[in-house]
Amino acid sequence: MLPYHPHGRVSDVSVYVIIAAGGLGRRAGGPVPKQWVTLGGQSIFARSVGACARASSVTGLVIAVPAERLGEARVQAEAAACGKAVIVVEGGARRQDSVAHAAAALPADASIVLIHDAARPFVTEPVIARVVEATQRDGGAIAALGVHDTVKLADTPGPTARIRSTLPRETVFLAQTPQGFRRDVLEHVVALGQQGGDVTDEATLAERAGYVVRLVAGDPANIKITTAEDMVLAQQRVSSARPGESRVRVGVGYDSHAFAPGRPLKLGGLLVPGVDGLAGHSDGDAVCHAVIDAILGAAGLGDVGTLFPDTDARWTGADSLDLLRQAWGRVQAAGYGLGNLDIAVVCCQPKIGRLRDAMASSLAGALDGLPSQVSVKGKTPEGTPALADALIVHAVALLVEREAAVDGA
Ligand code: MG
Repeated sequence: MLPYHPHGRVSDVSVYVIIAAGGLGRRAGGPVPKQWVTLGGQSIFARSVGACARASSVTGLVIAVPAERLGEARVQAEAAACGKAVIVVEGGARRQDSVAHAAAALPADASIVLIHDAARPFVTEPVIARVVEATQRDGGAIAALGVHDTVKLADTPGPTARIRSTLPRETVFLAQTPQGFRRDVLEHVVALGQQGGDVTDEATLAERAGYVVRLVAGDPANIKITTAEDMVLAQQRVSSARPGESRVRVGVGYDSHAFAPGRPLKLGGLLVPGVDGLAGHSDGDAVCHAVIDAILGAAGLGDVGTLFPDTDARWTGADSLDLLRQAWGRVQAAGYGLGNLDIAVVCCQPKIGRLRDAMASSLAGALDGLPSQVSVKGKTPEGTPALADALIVHAVALLVEREAAVDGA
């Protein structure tokens, strides 16, 4: 099977996913609510059900749908649910009413409950596993994305508003789903939702009630299909891998830098003391540069020079591991996950063998993967004195098209 590593099964908890598909969802522009639109032969609703059901930590699902969709939803959900338990209930007028109806139908043993949008069909097992794990630990957790753009707070809603202030973007996150709650927290949140006004997510109610709600890494590809434009992107995503077309892509990266006495040595995001650093516009981390080229090449997204040109002062002294994270965000947004990465570092010094495990962990962290997906080996330029003054890196990356990764799990 493909080398895509699902996270471990969570033991001793029964995890149920509530999918609230009760809304009318007419913003996509068509006459049919968006979650019932067909994408590549399957409704968005059924794809969302299937994506959750395939996660090894999920025990079963409770689905809230409009009364007129009950029969059809049951058929679609049972076909998509990989044999897991599916309970279908009638939704309510508002999102929180649909969630309340679903919560009332949860089995007695459900101890962790995730709430997921019916219009997010591209959620992956690692995102679900992160939400489950953090919910177990803290009582509440949601998948979320950091922002790379500068964030402005306006004085009024609307496009012609004036800026009031600039927010520190490090503390700004965009909420996705799933959102997870311990059973007792969910029940309190549901009760609050029945008393108060409309909310756009359940975490809002939990925050207001003073519960800890932890942020865990979401996925740029876990989009909520809301507009007609989103529909076009989603259609392209599911049609990009036709039967017989390759669902894996390979990329190669290469970089070499001369040693530069007096600079710190950074390799694969690690600071390596006691050895001269590498010359370069950024921090000179040739391992990160070769890996960036390998992943961008595999995804058909250009190379490190086009993404982070050395004529741009923004990248002077840049942390190359951070550049790798940014490049990986683009690769993920294009619909790819990591298969594996293999790296050869050619140098006289430092000795790569002793850095191998730490470097694999560092790079895996930047790529949302596991250290077992990253291999690092060192070679010395034996009998080639001309190469002694430089460090050379070769990297090969295998990317897995995300639908294929999920289907193969
Ligand atoms: Mg370089």
